[in-house]
Amino acid sequence: MSEILDAVRGGSDPATLAATALPTMTRAVFVRRDEQEKFDGVATRDKDPRASLHVDEVPLPEFAPDEVVIVVMASSINFNTVWTSIFEPMSTFAFLDRLGKESYWGARHALDHHVIGSDAAGVIVRVGSAVRNWSIGDAVTVHCNYVDDQDPTSHDDSMLGNQRIWGFETNFGGLADLSIVKANQLMPKPAHLTWEEAAVNALCNSTAYRMLVSHHGAPVTQGDKVLIWGASGGIGSFAVQHVLNSGGTPIGVVSSAAKAETLRELGCRYVINRAERDYRFWKDEHTQDESEWRRLGKDIRALVGDDPDIVFEHPGRSTMGASVFVAKRGGTIVTCAATTGYLVEYDNRHLWMKLKTIKGSHFSNYREAWAANQTIIDAKVVPPLSAVFPLEQTGEATYEMHHNRHEGKIAILCAATREGLGVTDPALRAEVGESKLTIFRRHDRET
Ligand code: NAP
Repeated sequence: MSEILDAVRGGSDPATLAATALPTMTRAVFVRRDEQEKFDGVATRDKDPRASLHVDEVPLPEFAPDEVVIVVMASSINFNTVWTSIFEPMSTFAFLDRLGKESYWGARHALDHHVIGSDAAGVIVRVGSAVRNWSIGDAVTVHCNYVDDQDPTSHDDSMLGNQRIWGFETNFGGLADLSIVKANQLMPKPAHLTWEEAAVNALCNSTAYRMLVSHHGAPVTQGDKVLIWGASGGIGSFAVQHVLNSGGTPIGVVSSAAKAETLRELGCRYVINRAERDYRFWKDEHTQDESEWRRLGKDIRALVGDDPDIVFEHPGRSTMGASVFVAKRGGTIVTCAATTGYLVEYDNRHLWMKLKTIKGSHFSNYREAWAANQTIIDAKVVPPLSAVFPLEQTGEATYEMHHNRHEGKIAILCAATREGLGVTDPALRAEVGESKLTIFRRHDRET
């Protein structure tokens, strides 16, 4: 097992990596089919990822001609890690079983354990016979759009085709020492970043990029005001940076003074602390309070003198009514999630009378992920890395996210033996500056 990991850790050349045998098993984080009902009847908050995420050796499957095998140096926790671990809104084994029916290669995925993880930074150690453009020894990051390239629809926008999220709707995800990914998930690793910094970007950065930069989302233009919920969280912290890069003005919403401080350091001048303002958008489980939406709208106007052209929406039920209300006449609410509940409610009069648009968005296609990765390579966007856990403590890290006790992104060390490794362009790193690369880590330590 450790032979190939040691070869990568030791910086072996491609010929040596190719000559080093692959193990039949790999250490990985997984949920188990026979435990998918273990939290039935338990309140969402009390479902504990530490009880459902297992770390152990599992078989490494055969890889397909269009796939590569990577040694994963680091991975990250995403909110889909939380969803998988608490089996909400459904058990992910249903996704694996569906994929299992598609083809010979699909059948590999329908197992009784699900190796999860939708981010990775690592080194290619095998390439399938149909792989072009990538070679053994390449340092890569991995985006999670797992696309059926035989679906005609995929060739317009792959997010409209038969696509899945790798490590959530497929097996063999990134929270492992070895993983298997399609060649069209690969992107170059940013050379100035450590493994753990490089591993936390692809999923959240690409999602925010499609929502706020791509023509498929609600692209920001100079002067736009953009309200960003959860602005120091995973997707929010990338959203803030994309708005700034596009010449817009982010108004970040967070729930603590420490998070507000993080945002200011990131360059976000206008921050609303929702805990301090104590908005009560819902009077009770069934009734919203328009006066509270209005209070948020007034707070935004007091800060930036106008209503937001775009609202970056993802909390869902708790905020959607307010988001639709506060968006400017003709503005757009772009949404990719519903963390607090997907049956949302808003007053439709505010939507149609003021000609607003609600735009749905989901991850990104390869071109968008590539462009988002380029923003990291060019150091136009910095990784919001706040904490690093070893693979064995993936459950603890996921618990932190489930309870909103984190900022930015949490990385997981997989094959990397310690933090701080993997930088191959120290000059660019020095130019960017350690203080900019560690904004979220400093704050994590202080809170
Ligand atoms: P995250 O790091 O946990 O950030 C979410 C943020 O939401 C938190 O930082 C929190 O900020 C805020 N929040 C939580 N409850 C809230 C409430 N009741 N009202 C207002 N804000 C609230 O998670 P993430 O990685 O950013 O992901 C956010 C959501 O997007 C998740 O549901 C995830 O599954 C989804 N997502 C979807 C896609 C996609 O492709 N469709 C991709 C990535 C993520 P404060 O407490 O500081 O306000």
